[in-house]
Amino acid sequence: MAHSKDKQKQLKSPSAALDKTSRGTMVKNQDEQAIANSMGLPSDFILSNAVDGVLQIKEDGRIMKANTISTKVLDLAEKNLKKKSIYELIPKEYHLLLKKRMEELTHPGMNVDVDREEDLFLLRCYTGKKVYKTCEAIILPYKTDQELTFFLNIWEPDSSSERLVDQLKEVQKNYESLSETISEAVIIIDESFKIIYANSATIRVFGYNKKEIIGKSFEVLFPEEIFYRYAPEIKKYFYVDFDDRKDVNIKDHMELLGRNKNRGVSPIEISFGNSREFHERTLTCIIRDVSHRKNVERKLRYLAYHDKLTDLGNRDLFASDINSLFEQVSTRSIGLAALFFLDLDGFKQVNDTFGHQAGDEILIETAQRLRDTLRESDLIYRFGGDEFVVLLTKVNQRKDAELVARKILDKVGKSYTIDKDGERSRASIGVSIGIALIPLHGADHETITRNADLAMYSAKENGKNQFVVFSEDLTHSAKNKWTIEQGLKTALTRQEMFLEYQPIHLNGKEIAGVEALIRWKHGIQGIIPPELFIPAAEENGTIIPIGHWVLDRACMDIRLLNRKLNLNLFLSVNISTKQLNLPNFPELIDGVINRTGIEPKLLKLEITETFLMENPEKVTANLNRLKKIHPDVSLVIDDFGKGYSSLSYLSRLPVECIKIDRSFIKDIPDPTNMKVISSIVNLAQSLGLTMVAEGIETKEQQDNDIIRQCQLSQGYIHSRPLTINKLVQYIQNQ
Ligand code: C2E
Ligand code: MG
Ligand code: MG
Repeated sequence: MAHSKDKQKQLKSPSAALDKTSRGTMVKNQDEQAIANSMGLPSDFILSNAVDGVLQIKEDGRIMKANTISTKVLDLAEKNLKKKSIYELIPKEYHLLLKKRMEELTHPGMNVDVDREEDLFLLRCYTGKKVYKTCEAIILPYKTDQELTFFLNIWEPDSSSERLVDQLKEVQKNYESLSETISEAVIIIDESFKIIYANSATIRVFGYNKKEIIGKSFEVLFPEEIFYRYAPEIKKYFYVDFDDRKDVNIKDHMELLGRNKNRGVSPIEISFGNSREFHERTLTCIIRDVSHRKNVERKLRYLAYHDKLTDLGNRDLFASDINSLFEQVSTRSIGLAALFFLDLDGFKQVNDTFGHQAGDEILIETAQRLRDTLRESDLIYRFGGDEFVVLLTKVNQRKDAELVARKILDKVGKSYTIDKDGERSRASIGVSIGIALIPLHGADHETITRNADLAMYSAKENGKNQFVVFSEDLTHSAKNKWTIEQGLKTALTRQEMFLEYQPIHLNGKEIAGVEALIRWKHGIQGIIPPELFIPAAEENGTIIPIGHWVLDRACMDIRLLNRKLNLNLFLSVNISTKQLNLPNFPELIDGVINRTGIEPKLLKLEITETFLMENPEKVTANLNRLKKIHPDVSLVIDDFGKGYSSLSYLSRLPVECIKIDRSFIKDIPDPTNMKVISSIVNLAQSLGLTMVAEGIETKEQQDNDIIRQCQLSQGYIHSRPLTINKLVQYIQNQ
């Protein structure tokens, strides 16, 4: 940078007057400083003779005195200045700079040269107009006997000076080349919204090249109404700097619609820089097209709120819709609305018979039938499985909701065509519908969904394929069923489940093993028998985690019991077909054995005969696979005799044991019954199967000749099911 020595001097030196008079105090080195101080020029003299703004400040930054010029530079009255700390007048980033300067000056041998460029620095000062102003500054120590203070000289840079012009040109060049490297549009506007600078990327965002746009109004880059709506907001950025935006609740960026010359309207995001005041006040806007991001966001939102299979809204979307509906209800802008809970009847059978693919197609078809039946303004959701939910947003009276329900029954009730392996079949599916009217049957999300669900249970209870409108006196059994199904979802985490063990004896002799039987102590309803909740758990899928917990718990209990009592009791665990049908069932059992350390030869899995008959191929495959991993785990057919298994089928299963159903034992010594038991025993013997006589209550039953051919017996005659602690006592008392 070339500039005359004089010019430089004029710039660097705070004032000519200082050169002559006060400057004698703004000394250049330690010796001179000592002289100046020893000259004892009072600070007031220095302040009033300086031609620049001078603030006398303490080491901690407090302003002690300020001359008149400084009050003009900073646009603050002397009395206001004197109350402040210099740190209140400059942005945070400059605090360290000033502190460092002051610290350096307290070191002996430290020189300050008002003619030396390095000793000058730029300081941004906060003025009375609430804007920052860039000042040139120099700081000098002023030592008296009592204390060390500082003179902070500030003056506004002379904009006409060559040096400054050169500097500005350089800054501008840097700025321009930087703004050319970025893909966002960089646009500088003045206070009248005239565009005074635009970079090349402006064409990408707005379709205008920079020459075309400079000089035009910012307005052309937006749809008209959008610009007028946002202009007052944009204007604020001219007056509020970055650091202060949080305090006045202004974001650093703004999202709005912009207009591209060729492509039309699209979403954009503008980030605002700090405004500058040079010849005029300007504002830098960095603008990007966010259409792509918005599209991605929209797609993600859609995925999060929709069911992939049917494309209907999911549970989360329903929650959001129903909540906003209730907001409207509370502001009384809507009258009656209706919520339908739908559950398909007979879907599970179709799914089991024809497979998942066919099941999925039925669900897709059902979604379409619902769309065809309902109006555009009605909302349809799928909650998973075969549960659908319909929200009729406008219903005048209860009869309207009932009419819609009838239409749905009719439409969904029509038979479905299923294509499987090139073969066409027809399947009939019904639907049970529960209706709750809004706001009559609930004024919040939870109540209304519970009541619609309850009404749906009632429809199922009443014989399915019908609708029921919620009322307080819905059948007791529907409420019970609902309570059970809902309670099952949290029973494990609430630790409401526990196990009992029923001893199994070698015929007429000592205990040989136990059967684990699950118990549920419901928070409100007390003990619920397994016969009530196991089918419900199977229906709603909670049998999987529950069954898993039973296996883990029972294996652990019995392994510990065997160790404690030095025994080798076997453990029989009831397994549901839902568990058995899991593709990874063998691996699950393997996991349990590894985790609990139970000996595989002591583990017996009980599978009910009727269940076995439902899906024999699949079950056989899984059982065979389990047997490959753990040949010593044995399989028991529970409640044998009820399911009428075919002989040939039984011989193909990897089964070691059957349990004769309690109903046969109960009827001893009825002669026809005895014939059945006898044939079961013969069959088992011919297949080499072990037999357990289950439900033995009396001596007569136990002593029966045929029953005595069973190797094992279980029943109240020995013991009722016991908690693990009672079981230990039972064994010890034997
Ligand atoms: P189950 O496997 O046939 O179990 C035998 C049932 O007969 C038990 O009923 C037991 O308490 C009862 N019982 C035993 N001896 C006698 C007797 O002498 N007289 C009479 N009247 N009853 C006797 P509980 O505990 O109510 O279990 C009922 C059914 O629930 C079980 O029948 C089983 O199918 C199912 N279950 C129990 N626990 C589980 C489990 O953890 N998982 C699965 N999937 N099912 C279970
Ligand atoms: Mg059993
Ligand atoms: Mg049984």
